[in-house]
Amino acid sequence: MRMRTKSQLPTKVCACCQRPFVWRKKWERDWENVKYCSDRCRASGPTTTEAAPGPPRKAPA
Ligand SMILES: [Zn+2]
Repeated sequence: MRMRTKSQLPTKVCACCQRPFVWRKKWERDWENVKYCSDRCRASGPTTTEAAPGPPRKAPA
């Protein structure tokens, strides 16, 4: 896979903070699975109303 131009990087919305973030070099092999903008957000997980343990609900996009 080759990059085209640096000015056309893909973006996603963080599942935690709901903010858009831009493709990064470190995600080039795992971009499809990237859901969070940072390690902190990944550790926090998806936005939830309460921090109760249990199976994650699949929120509508
Ligand atoms: Zn985030």
